[in-house]
Amino acid sequence: MSGTMTATDAVGFMVAIMIFSLVIMALSIGNAVFWGLAAYDDAKAKNNNDALMWGLLVGFLGWIPGIIYLCLRNKGINKMIYCPNCQFIHRIVEPNCPNCGIQNQFAMPYLTPMNAEYARKAKRNLIIGIVLCALCVIAVIALVIYFVFFAVQIAEYSGSYSYSYYW
Ligand SMILES: [Zn+2]
Repeated sequence: MSGTMTATDAVGFMVAIMIFSLVIMALSIGNAVFWGLAAYDDAKAKNNNDALMWGLLVGFLGWIPGIIYLCLRNKGINKMIYCPNCQFIHRIVEPNCPNCGIQNQFAMPYLTPMNAEYARKAKRNLIIGIVLCALCVIAVIALVIYFVFFAVQIAEYSGSYSYSYYW
């Protein structure tokens, strides 16, 4: 860098910071939306009646409700039932009794094409959320690097300003 800091440089710096901020903001919002959608779709896939609540909580509040959701998400499908035929205790989502093999009618609402579709969407939204999260981190790192380079440039400029008396 030559030792001249012009007004154009300062304007360029401010514009760059503004663009960085907008990109980071957009990525953060997109990130929140897709994590919220992923939680909603995952809850729907598991016939959770609070799917909307979880989607909103994760979308607006982020990782804390996200972790709570992860701990609770399989509660519904892990519910234990008695086989009406042999009294064997098994998970409600088993399509057949693991003991006697009789068809488990209670599993039917969990195994519809809708459940599979929601599970597919949850996976897709989760991947998009992870990608946006990574891009957001990269944008923040780029902003920091840009900031440091600009600060170094100013420092060099101030340095050359004082040296200029010597010639
Ligand atoms: Zn049975």
